[in-house]
This record gives sequence, structure tokens and C-alpha cells, in this order.
Amino acid sequence: MTAAEYVFGETIPAPGASIEVAPGILWLRMPLPFALDHINLWAIEDGEGWTLVDTGFGVQATWDLWDRHFAGSLKGRPVNNVVVTHYHPDHLGSAAWLVKRTGAAFWMTTGEFLSGHAAHDDTAGFDRTTGIEFFRINGLDTSRFPERMRTGNGYRRGVPEIPTSYRRMLDGDRIAIGAHHWQVITVFGHAPEHAALYCADLNILISGDQVLPRITTNVGVWGNQPESNPLALFLDSIGRFLPLPADALVLPSHDRVFRGLHGRIAELRAHHEERLGRLLAACASPVTAHEVLPVLFKRALDDHQLMFAMGEAIAHLHYLWHRGAVVRDVAPDGIRRFRAA
Ligand SMILES: [Zn+2]
Repeated sequence: MTAAEYVFGETIPAPGASIEVAPGILWLRMPLPFALDHINLWAIEDGEGWTLVDTGFGVQATWDLWDRHFAGSLKGRPVNNVVVTHYHPDHLGSAAWLVKRTGAAFWMTTGEFLSGHAAHDDTAGFDRTTGIEFFRINGLDTSRFPERMRTGNGYRRGVPEIPTSYRRMLDGDRIAIGAHHWQVITVFGHAPEHAALYCADLNILISGDQVLPRITTNVGVWGNQPESNPLALFLDSIGRFLPLPADALVLPSHDRVFRGLHGRIAELRAHHEERLGRLLAACASPVTAHEVLPVLFKRALDDHQLMFAMGEAIAHLHYLWHRGAVVRDVAPDGIRRFRAA
């Protein structure tokens, strides 16, 4: 189900190539080593050079493709700015490489810049020990995880380095890129202070991960904010896109360029309401987040997907809990169970 109309049909940019989605705006694609196997990046003409939005996973395969783009799609012209929507590895991973390579200015929101550094440095509750303990109290038998998932730092696999200084983006800022201004719109629930960018002249929204045309954005509770309600933040803050024109061209980080923003937002809200309804029914007797996974996910989950599924299940339970629809009991061993109020 999707209200999204794919503006370019099935067409996607080939590796190392680009598609001009509007005058002076290029769509690039980089591979990812996950089930979600690609990310979309954007290059915006900026005077004699370019502003890049998002950077790709921080590995050699991405950098080799960037080298092809510099000579090809970007016509050998300089990169003035690197703008990163949020701290996740597919978006931030190659920023340090690009900034070093091109001398570009580097832009992020403060919430994302600091979260990236915390995840990279295993601090502020981003470490595995905190994460694993949080999944344990939500009913997951974490002893079955292989050693590499219980120790080490997975984030650095995709983000080997992060610039140590940045230019701050704030909600409402207007950033001049070439002939046009882009308005920063911050949105929440998927990441702490995710930046989206809207250009009124061109009627284009760079939506990052906040609104995707077909898959739903991951919204999870994690160990460093164990009582949080990110689904409420997500459902509320996607409403920040509703004042934009219904026919805005949306450039999402995954899948394809589309129109149908308002319909897609309505669909996402309905999708989560439907899942919340099913989940509430499953809370007729006390359940952990791990026990309700089959209510939300029909397919088999690999270990990587299991982490995101747990975060997502807890986010939905917390939404019901914060709303007062379910009660949370905490057992002496710390295990949290939720039951209908
Ligand atoms: Zn993301």
C-alpha cells in the first residue's frame, strides 16, 4: 500500500551515475551492506560548485563511487558544503572522508552531531552493554547473541570518523544553496534532531528518513532513553510537513522520488494506529516487548533486524503506556511486562 506516485517510475540511478530530478538537483545512490541495500544522496548546484546532502556508509566501496561522481556527475567542480540529515551510518558515514577530500563546510543539527560522536565513542548510553541490558529487561534472551553483538562497536563499521567541528542547523534556518533558499525543518522519533530541507522556489522536500514512500521509518526506544515515547514524537512531527504543498516533490533517503506527501503521511499515521490496535489486543494478558514481536512482524528476522524490531515493539508499547491504555509491571528481575489498563 502506498499513496506515493513514483515520479520517475522504476528508474533509479546506476552506481556512479545520477539522475537530474529538477534543474540543478542530482539524485545519486550508494550501496549498503544490509537488507535495505541502498541510500539516496542529493547533490545541489551551488554557484560554481555543489552542496551534497548525506554521504553514504563510510567504507571504501562508497568512496570509490564518490571518486567516479567527482569526475562524472559533479563535472570536476568543487564541493562547497556537506549537509547531513542525521547521525545514522548510511547518512553520516562518509562525511569525514568527503570533508577532508573536498574542504567542504560540514552542516548538522547539534542533536545529531553529538549523537554521532557519542555512538562512535561508546558513551552517553550508546554502548552495547547498556543496549543489551535494555533488551533483556524487555524480554529478549540476549545470551543467544554472538560475542560480536554483545561487545564491540557496530557504529564505527559504517562511521570510521566524524568531523570534530560543524556548522549548526536549527529548525527554521534558511540556508542559501546556489540561487535558492532551503528551510530546515527538524523532525523527531527516528533520530534525535533529524533535519529535513524544503525549498519553496522549487517545491522540493528532502525528507531524509522521516517520510519514505513505501517502507515505514524505524522508530525505536533505545537503552539511553529507556522510558521515552518516540512514536508520539514521530507521529506528531511528521505533521510539520503538512503545511507544505500537497504536490511537493519528495526526495527520500530510501526507495524512489515521489509525489503524494499528504497522502503518505495519512497512510503512515493509519499504519501505526492499526499496529497499536493489534498490540493493545495482545496486551489482554501481561506481555513483554519480545513476546509481541510476532504481532508486529510477520517475517523472520535476522539478528540485525531483531534489534530494530525490539526497539520498534517497545516504542509501540510505550506509546500505549504513555497514553494510559496499558499498565507496565516491573518484575524483581527487572523484566517489564505490559497489560491493558
Ligand atoms: Zn536513519
